[in-house]
Amino acid sequence: MTVNILFAALPQRWDSYREPLSTALREAGIDFDLRTEFAPAEVDYIVYAPNSAVQDFTPYTRLKAVLNIWAGVEKITGNPTLKVPLTRMVDEGLTRGMVEYVTGHVLRHHLGMDKHIRGLAPGDWPQDFPPLAQDRRVTVLGLGELGAVCATTLAGLGFDVAGWSRSPKTVEGVSCHHGDAGLKAALTHAEILVLLLPDTPATQNLIDAEALERMPMGAMIVNPGRGPLIDDEALLAALDAGHIGHATLDVFRVEPLPAEHRYWTHPHVTVTPHIASETRAPSASRVLAENVRRFEAGEPLLHLVDRTAGY
Ligand code: NDP
Repeated sequence: MTVNILFAALPQRWDSYREPLSTALREAGIDFDLRTEFAPAEVDYIVYAPNSAVQDFTPYTRLKAVLNIWAGVEKITGNPTLKVPLTRMVDEGLTRGMVEYVTGHVLRHHLGMDKHIRGLAPGDWPQDFPPLAQDRRVTVLGLGELGAVCATTLAGLGFDVAGWSRSPKTVEGVSCHHGDAGLKAALTHAEILVLLLPDTPATQNLIDAEALERMPMGAMIVNPGRGPLIDDEALLAALDAGHIGHATLDVFRVEPLPAEHRYWTHPHVTVTPHIASETRAPSASRVLAENVRRFEAGEPLLHLVDRTAGY
């Protein structure tokens, strides 16, 4: 029987997903009808972005699952009208992009590149050699699909890497901490701190004044996770005081970041406009098609969201 798949995301997404998703569904052996419009009662699956027009799932009476094309699900986990399984995106393209963003920004801070990009005064010749990576302590908060690969990549470059997650983890080359007790050690280690946690009630404002205080003097922060992980006022105060040397921020409580926000003009903040990484339609389409195939075959879905934990 034909499965009806509603593509509910912004129109530009449809442009990039239409062909690869159709191809992936065909290759998965699915008899499908893929469209951006259906009568709600006819829809079996929704390929979904939380900024789409679909916010009330009540009319979708035969819906089997919602397949999110974003990795972050904080804008949908709490939706009380959603009664069917929700999956999130884990995509090799998204992961590779995040590894490149994180590695690039960590290396920038590690090597002190800004000094040379801004330019020395003519005749100045300060030969301040950066330490080797082995002498630089980096912490990655969040050792999930993205955090674990970023942590192993940084460890592969020689950095002294610690990581932190909710449950105990083993990641090769990384000193792993977990739970409330493990956070202090992870922060104390963080000469460079990378945030790859989801936005949940348990992680909001995790990086507050107390957490910042625990980090070494002059520490750098790279946040491609989510804006609410950081208490913005506490971070600005720590930057003003010089306790935090620099923050590279890709995500914010309000996006686009309002023009009057102090982050834009702070000399020790780099703002990137939520471009750390994105799902790549060809590889993401294969993940979506595989999940439709699995559900139709009665097999467990990949990347199922635990809506109680919020990620
Ligand atoms: P995962 O769900 O795979 O991993 C989340 C990690 O965070 C896990 O290690 C989890 O622990 C840990 N975690 C969650 N809650 C807590 C907690 N309360 N205490 C300690 N650790 C916790 O997510 P991904 O790696 O796929 O993605 C991470 C985030 O990256 C996304 O949620 C999204 O917000 C962001 N993102 C940003 C993008 C951008 O362009 N800026 C692009 C894509 C994603 P455990 O392993 O024990 O479950």
